[in-house]
Amino acid sequence: MRIVVVGGVAAGMSAASRARRTDPDATVTVFERGGEISYGACGLPYVIAGQVENFGDLIARTPNQMRERGIDVKVRHEVSGVDPSARTLTVHDRQSGRSVTEPYDRLLIATGSSPVRPDWARTGLVGVHVLRDLQDGLALKASVKGARRACIIGGGYIGLEMAEALREQGLDVTILEKGPEVAGRILDRLDQRRLRAEVEKHGVEVRCGLTVEALTGTHGRVTAVQTSEGPVETDLVVIAIGVRPNTALAEAAGVSLGKTGAVAVNARQETDVEGVYAAGDNCEAQHRVSGKQVYIPLGLTANRMGRVAGVNMTGGDAHFPGIVGTGIFRTFNLGVARTGLTQAEAEALGLDAASVDVDSTDHAGYFPDAAPIHVRMTGERGSGRLLGAQLLGQPHSVKRVDVVAALLHVGAGVEDLFGSDLAYAPPFSTTWDVLLVAADRLR
Ligand code: FAD
Repeated sequence: MRIVVVGGVAAGMSAASRARRTDPDATVTVFERGGEISYGACGLPYVIAGQVENFGDLIARTPNQMRERGIDVKVRHEVSGVDPSARTLTVHDRQSGRSVTEPYDRLLIATGSSPVRPDWARTGLVGVHVLRDLQDGLALKASVKGARRACIIGGGYIGLEMAEALREQGLDVTILEKGPEVAGRILDRLDQRRLRAEVEKHGVEVRCGLTVEALTGTHGRVTAVQTSEGPVETDLVVIAIGVRPNTALAEAAGVSLGKTGAVAVNARQETDVEGVYAAGDNCEAQHRVSGKQVYIPLGLTANRMGRVAGVNMTGGDAHFPGIVGTGIFRTFNLGVARTGLTQAEAEALGLDAASVDVDSTDHAGYFPDAAPIHVRMTGERGSGRLLGAQLLGQPHSVKRVDVVAALLHVGAGVEDLFGSDLAYAPPFSTTWDVLLVAADRLR
């Protein structure tokens, strides 16, 4: 059995490791077009901030370590074509410049996603960056030295993490956001405003409701972002306006895409082409709360999809259970978490949703360092179904979003959350934790 994996990061390496373990007799080969495998892109903002020392710290396994485990990793090898009827791949060795044909019995396409780069971003100017892989991180970190002002285009979670990172490095930071508020696709409006206030409190200028028209510069280096509201001078630009699934290879194999534009897979991570699997940021997933196929590319999802594919490619029977839209990030001293559906998302789906907002403290008010925490909880009228929650507070305090995520996973009701026996002691929570208070108000 020849198992071939294209893409050597979260989904690809999870699949390769799992396949290796499930079928010790299979040959497992990974082709990765970049120079590194198995690294945590999620840590990039913290290396740029200086909170994690080296980019190398983000690498979980090297190609040699994987080879020692019996996985044949070939870096700087780009797969440029697939012939599913002959079950062969065309692989281009980027070092030697040669292309070869490689056979496979089972193929996993784990090609991930790429940052969206509109035409105005393709200037060739020095000082313009995206953040996706280790090379992007190195280039951005080098640009920070000598820069005084930075513009971050896009107020999503990567833009907001980078705002903190660049302030930590002493830069003047401006966020330019097309929508009416930051975190527009993450939170409901009230929480977006609270989040923006936190970012502004740390000296970040936030300008919403404008469009970027061009990046301009002198002597080949960026000096300004031209917007619908005039120019914003800068020494450094980070473009963080979302990612698109890398579907070219899947499409070349004749694989169907879903309505989201990402690769359509079943719960076994099989595509509609025999012998071809897909996993990770290039795939859509089923949302257990809405029942819809969605594109929410995140790290655990990629790892889990890869693991499922690895089992199934070697003759096992594993199923990806779907997601509930959980996400978490930190910007400055604020942790932001969400799971399920926001009120706006529920309404857009035609659900009869209601939300409550609760402000409390993250642990007993009399205990040192008690800090504010805000919960917005959403449920369905009539059925009493729990639909989602959004939390803002001290970074560690918002990890309690996992309680709601776990209940959403099993389709629980607001009443189930209210009845849950949550842990309590003064250093950790109030007697009635803020989640219980919110559920009580919502039921
Ligand atoms: P990728 O990591 O994109 O890997 C795909 C690999 O495939 C790439 O290395 C690419 O070079 C290779 N490839 C593509 N095409 C070919 C080809 N034709 N031939 C050979 N190789 C190919 N997620 C979270 O859950 N939490 C976070 O806090 C978080 N923070 C993030 C912060 C940043 C700055 C970034 C960039 C991402 C963050 N993510 C976070 C998202 C998370 O990193 C991704 O969901 C995860 O990396 C997806 O893994 P993947 O293996 O599907 O794809």
